[in-house]
Amino acid sequence: MKPDPETKPVIVIGGGWAGIAAAVELARYDIPVILLESAKQLGGRARSVNVDELHVDNGQHMLLGAYESTLDLLRKIGVNESDVLQRKPLSLQWHRSGKKPVSLNTPNLPAPFHLAWALLTLKGLSLRDRLSALRFARQLEKNNFTLDDDCSVADFLAQHHQSPALIHALWEPLCIGALNTHLHEASAQVFLRTLGDSFSHARSDSDLLLTRVNLGSVFPKPATDYIETHKGSVRLGQRTNALCIENGRITGITIDNTHIATNEVILATPHTTTLRLLRPHDLLQETCQQMARLQDRPICTIYLQFDKTVRLGRWLHGSLGTISQWIFDRGLYGQHGLMAVVVSGDGDHQHWDNQTLCAQVAAEIAAQYPQWPAPQSQQVIREKRATFASIVNVNQHRPNAKTAVQGLWLAGDYTNTYLPATLEGAVRSGRYSAQQIITSHRRQRHQQQEKI
Ligand SMILES: Cc1cc2nc3c(=O)[nH]c(=O)nc-3n(C[C@H](O)[C@H](O)[C@H](O)COP(=O)(O)OP(=O)(O)OC[C@H]3O[C@@H](n4cnc5c(N)ncnc54)[C@H](O)[C@@H]3O)c2cc1C
Repeated sequence: MKPDPETKPVIVIGGGWAGIAAAVELARYDIPVILLESAKQLGGRARSVNVDELHVDNGQHMLLGAYESTLDLLRKIGVNESDVLQRKPLSLQWHRSGKKPVSLNTPNLPAPFHLAWALLTLKGLSLRDRLSALRFARQLEKNNFTLDDDCSVADFLAQHHQSPALIHALWEPLCIGALNTHLHEASAQVFLRTLGDSFSHARSDSDLLLTRVNLGSVFPKPATDYIETHKGSVRLGQRTNALCIENGRITGITIDNTHIATNEVILATPHTTTLRLLRPHDLLQETCQQMARLQDRPICTIYLQFDKTVRLGRWLHGSLGTISQWIFDRGLYGQHGLMAVVVSGDGDHQHWDNQTLCAQVAAEIAAQYPQWPAPQSQQVIREKRATFASIVNVNQHRPNAKTAVQGLWLAGDYTNTYLPATLEGAVRSGRYSAQQIITSHRRQRHQQQEKI
């Protein structure tokens, strides 16, 4: 599509994965775009960081084979999946103190038989529990992984006669891992949607994809190159303070009292910032009211450097009944002996100082891997607003991309994608908003041609 010389660039505010995806999508269709990010780097909540000598991500991220839109966009900008991601069929194992580990392994069978077999052969659980998990999964499939009236995951599991042992060893870690929300308050609708996306279509949807390189090199860096070679521009350190709206239309934005005129804006900031920017405008009060009840949940990542010879023996290992939920071996990234320990969701650890938290995590690891030496150094990265909370009825509080203001679109993981807060939700939402603008440009061009 050739750009109209009269067209003002579309402005995308926020350079997280949603904003980047939106800008790339527009650039793919030759629509002039300016991506404005307040920080000094792109990536938002999925970014690379340097803490002292440590070059890591702000938190260990994992993608799934079901991240269709993200993987598709990477391909479209020329990123070869295997250069940046390593893929493995789903295989999870959890330590339990004083008991045999629990492990879930998907065999090489088409979906959903791979799930059925994985549940039936779950190691560390009784036959009764495994059959009960299988019956539950079949019931979910029958209902297309949907639920009319939302309730908590805990209530839903109880309704489906899942035993405490099964909940503790399987559903609870999957729920907190996928939704970053504990199951007593987590939305069953969102949880089922995640299970459906991962297990009901292709077997490869449940594959785990870990990054081979830092997060910045997976998407933000190649996307910047793509945008800038397709007539777009990426501007860092540019904090948008206000939206300018006149007669129901977006007319521009302001950055430090400087007005930038535009007819189209994709606002891809976190929900708290979005709310602040929408609040002054009468037309957007309904959206503000809808969003006001969104909450956030934290993720804490503890990086422990052991001797370089220390190996986990797997990509990741879960842990039950401990503060540490997952441990990832950064040896995969060439950072031998570096372990990333993930603690998702709310918990007592939020009130502990870093030293206490590291000591607790190191003690848990020492109990699980008694042969390892003590860690040599440690770093804690706390993301207090890592994700929105996928609590019961959360979908009612997630706004649509289209707003009451002409030319203003919303994007971000929190918008109404029905997915939990994920990279895929962010990318999907960004691409969706961009596609609405692309369609409207096409329509306008068509109308102009008809007039001629
Ligand atoms: C520790 C951690 C671990 C995670 N693990 C996973 C995982 O394993 N798998 C997964 O799929 N997801 C994971 N997530 C969730 C995932 O990172 C997010 O869902 C996703 O990055 C959200 O992207 P976004 O673009 O919607 O929002 P953000 O990333 O929040 O992007 C918003 C951007 O807007 C910018 N901004 C804010 N205000 C302004 C302003 N006024 N002007 C201009 N720019 C502004 C911000 O700086 C930011 O860059 C994790 C998140 C965290 C924090």
